[in-house]
Amino acid sequence: DRINVAIDGPAGAGKSTVARLVARELSYIYVDTGAMYRAITWYMIREGIAAEEHELVDRKVQGMVIELLPEKDVQKVLINGEDMTPHIRSLQVSGQVSQYAKIEGVRSRLSQLQRHMALRKGVVMDGRDIGTTVLPDAEVKIFMTASVEERALRRYKELKDTETVTLQQLEHDIAARDRLDEGREISPLCRAEDAILLDTTHMDIHQAVEAIVSHCRT
Ligand code: C5P
Repeated sequence: DRINVAIDGPAGAGKSTVARLVARELSYIYVDTGAMYRAITWYMIREGIAAEEHELVDRKVQGMVIELLPEKDVQKVLINGEDMTPHIRSLQVSGQVSQYAKIEGVRSRLSQLQRHMALRKGVVMDGRDIGTTVLPDAEVKIFMTASVEERALRRYKELKDTETVTLQQLEHDIAARDRLDEGREISPLCRAEDAILLDTTHMDIHQAVEAIVSHCRT
């Protein structure tokens, strides 16, 4: 029988790479919830709506059409029919996403969409609050971490060709984002009581995927 798999953890722990491969291995659907928060952030930045304008952000979010299109390896996020994906990995979006992600209307709208996508099971979903809030009944819950140095290094390798950034800057940015995500009032980043802790500091991608898949098959 199909199950749901929740993968949570701090920024840069390798969740999305690993979750995508786990989904492929199990022939499940991968849902990147961070991409949804990022898409909303890019939309608001472009519209010139600051995160402090809670009510306006709320109103915009309740009125927009949000679609998730699973493509071969990437997942596209469309807002009002427009693809936001090419813009969502920038440092600008990474630097602001936590401020928009703490707004209640943003979280309730996205959580509802995410729950809906998991209704028929067979979903691997990664984020910050999947095991605790979005899918508290997920059959397998993983909390993926790695040291902040290792996480920054992984991000650096991804970004170094497209952004002017130092490893030190990324360490600082990642630590700051974790503090915001852990400290927010609504569904903060934390390990669900029944989540398996997976520290990937000294693991490669393949080992992390195997560890999770083995939990799904038992
Ligand atoms: O996973 P990723 O780094 O792309 O997530 C970007 C940001 O989106 C996180 O730092 C967090 O602020 C927010 N987020 C969230 N809840 C989720 C997924 C992401 O608040 N389930």
